[in-house]
Amino acid sequence: MKDRFDIAADLRTIARLLEIKGENRFKTLAFIRGAEALGSLEGDLDDLVKDRRLREIPGIGNALSSIIEEIYSTGECWMLQQLCQGLPPGVIELSDVPGLSLKKIIALYDDLRIESVADLKAACKEGLVGNVKGFGTKSQARILAGIEKLENRDENFLLLNQAVEQAEQILQHLRTCSELIDAQVAGALRRRQETIRQICIVAASDQPRAVIDRFLGFPPLAHTDELDETRCRGRLAGGLQTELVVVSPDAYIATLHARTGSAKHLAKLQEISHSRELPYLVECGGGKQRGMGSESEIYQHLGLQYIPPELREDEGEVEAASNGTLPQPLALEDIRGMTHCHTDYSDGRNSIEEMALAAQAMGMSYLTITDHSQSASYAGGLGIDRLRAQWDEIARVQERVSIRLLKGTESDILEDGSLDYPDYLLNQFDIVIASIHARHKMDADQMTRRLLRALKLPIFKVWGHPLGRLIPSRPPFACRLEEVLDAVAESRCAIEVNGDPHRLDLEPHWIRLARNRGIKFIVSTDAHSIAGLANLPVGVSMARRGWLMRGEVLNTLGVEDFMRAIHP
Ligand SMILES: [Zn+2]
Ligand SMILES: [Zn+2]
Repeated sequence: MKDRFDIAADLRTIARLLEIKGENRFKTLAFIRGAEALGSLEGDLDDLVKDRRLREIPGIGNALSSIIEEIYSTGECWMLQQLCQGLPPGVIELSDVPGLSLKKIIALYDDLRIESVADLKAACKEGLVGNVKGFGTKSQARILAGIEKLENRDENFLLLNQAVEQAEQILQHLRTCSELIDAQVAGALRRRQETIRQICIVAASDQPRAVIDRFLGFPPLAHTDELDETRCRGRLAGGLQTELVVVSPDAYIATLHARTGSAKHLAKLQEISHSRELPYLVECGGGKQRGMGSESEIYQHLGLQYIPPELREDEGEVEAASNGTLPQPLALEDIRGMTHCHTDYSDGRNSIEEMALAAQAMGMSYLTITDHSQSASYAGGLGIDRLRAQWDEIARVQERVSIRLLKGTESDILEDGSLDYPDYLLNQFDIVIASIHARHKMDADQMTRRLLRALKLPIFKVWGHPLGRLIPSRPPFACRLEEVLDAVAESRCAIEVNGDPHRLDLEPHWIRLARNRGIKFIVSTDAHSIAGLANLPVGVSMARRGWLMRGEVLNTLGVEDFMRAIHP
């Protein structure tokens, strides 16, 4: 019989096959979310299926619940079988090779019976691939290089939001142990890095063994690598490394601080404590110093302003904290408006009213509806008629909700740098987000020209997910960003910090360069569903990593001031 992890694996396979067949990203994401939900299930799957209560799990709707029931009761999945039909064996692993489309995978199978990456590598080395129709010696060399890159990649990581969720589950599990006094996430996750390869948790207890035992009982902990009286390192079912360190309560803060890092940040602090011959030593490894009541005390002791975890990267924060110029970074509570959101008018999953009520329940005072523009046909972009229908619906929903709804667009920046609606229409929106969704592969010159033209347009716009990266698959596109930022600073334009965990764009070091130019920002979720709104904290952490302060983020303003700022 298949357990929840097997079923989750089937859902992931379905997502991969849909993706390979070119289905849109949101359809595939539904299966990935379903798999994640099963993986982190609290209750018992048998009961949920028996009582037909699968739909109560967030992320699992009607369609998904029948598929899960089918796999659970028969071990098979009709949809999966249908998807596999006509596809060569090994299509999933082969599709990971850069540049191999489905068409090419089929051609390789038909000609050379290639069924795996190993087959493909051997065939490239023998020079056979270059002779297949549609391939040549150049593409053969590219494929070989791609395979070598694949072989060196590290797959065991989670996106930030997934890691936060996973860590929260571990913490909840540990908190059921009565011997636990306190526990917190440390490491890269506490510093809110984009991808997380290890979850490190520091705990305080007088009886470390009891806490370790509790940790060993965490159901997804699949494998233990190292174990002693105060420390345990293992892997979760998905492969992610996880470490728990348990120390006595008086060593807790020092250990938490040392384990949070980054190594370069700690080394800078160590220099300070050595040069001033301070009795309290900041430690990079163990952190066995005792007696600090809070991390603020550690910084105070060193004569520094408090440095929040997200800023501890040795990127100038220690120097700034030393001369008192470290900004007080944005807090989640500062955000008053949910910006850049999609609805079922384009490629979102929820209606305007559902999104409005969800944002209202989060305490937001306004929500911007910014569906895709007409050229974005792949994402259900709105033509002018549909747009007018949407405005009518926004007006109707506004009657029923207390949160203020602003009508906006995520307008494509077209290839020539123009925006996707005529000027008379653009002027009628409350907010215009201008984003690139196609032709990412222009060279830096062309892309810079395209951006300069768009961002210098007289209408006020927010530059959405600026460099178009997707984590982990698509790097930021090429352009001369400093030149573009100079132009943004002179234009009617703000920049988005996109909180979609796959995007997290603009990156922190670029945010800092932009804020040095006096540029303003919005922090958004780019939500395509109610669930997507929950990524606001992720967006805020990116802003904090970029040192943004409340006064630099426009959606910390009340609605009237916000509207004046984005549509002056
Ligand atoms: Zn977009
Ligand atoms: Zn969007």
